[in-house]
Amino acid sequence: MINLTDRVALVTGGGRGIGESTCRLLAGLGAAVVVADRDLGPAVAVAQAIDAGGGRALALDCDVAERDQVESVVGRAVETYGQLDILVACAGITRDNLIHKMTDEDWDGVIATHLRGSFQAARAAQAHMVAQRYGKMVFVSSTSALGNRGQSNYAAAKAGLQGFTRTLAIELGPFNVNVNAVAPGLIETRMTHATADRIGRPWEEYAAQRAAEIPLRRVGQPDDVATVIAFLASDAASYVSGQTIYVAGGPRG
Ligand code: NDP
Repeated sequence: MINLTDRVALVTGGGRGIGESTCRLLAGLGAAVVVADRDLGPAVAVAQAIDAGGGRALALDCDVAERDQVESVVGRAVETYGQLDILVACAGITRDNLIHKMTDEDWDGVIATHLRGSFQAARAAQAHMVAQRYGKMVFVSSTSALGNRGQSNYAAAKAGLQGFTRTLAIELGPFNVNVNAVAPGLIETRMTHATADRIGRPWEEYAAQRAAEIPLRRVGQPDDVATVIAFLASDAASYVSGQTIYVAGGPRG
């Protein structure tokens, strides 16, 4: 049902975690994939694996908080493959702290990465998508958008992305551009291993305790999210826009 042959995708934060799984899946479904990450090494490894499997991929370094880097990567994608059909904004960080300990750097870093990074990528991508009258954007929110202790910065950014998604769906719908978001619950990646480390808990113990609270009784894997992103990036979801789909093993993980 999902076929992305001849589509061109750009995935920010594509070197690791959910972004990596998304790059591999989109490529497996036929898309040429630009793997963008602030750390070029992992991005190159993902692109090489896609190439080795017979797919098409290009690795580029890009800090999504830097406007010139984002615009340059979008430009390189179009130069290389002639078009840009799919944007998946996966780049993300956490800087958790209770409000009385949260620094300006914690706040600004998270907002700049998630909110400004997604905005900058969307603004650069929409120019091409509107011109070609075709596009799919998928942003990555989180169950933390509903509130999560120690994550006022991250929750604000992830809730903001849901409003951003709905607004772009209204603005870009007339140009045949679909805009949606996924909101993952706890997914096993380097980011969540780092959370367990920070609170001094072995991953297995942390994951087991969290899984007991999740209706499907397991933590998610990056592919659980990538498959939903691929659906939203495809014509199978051509009448879905402005939605946030929770991918959390339950109503909110
Ligand atoms: P990972 O840390 O595994 O992957 C995130 C990738 O984004 C890393 O390669 C990271 O690089 C990169 N990145 C960070 N900042 C930037 C930047 N400014 N510019 C470009 N790339 C950047 O995390 P996940 O795969 O878990 O997270 C992916 C997305 O999913 C994030 O938006 C996250 O908030 C969201 N999410 C994750 C959940 C989870 O449970 N894992 C739950 C809900 C949402 P580096 O390693 O150098 O930081």
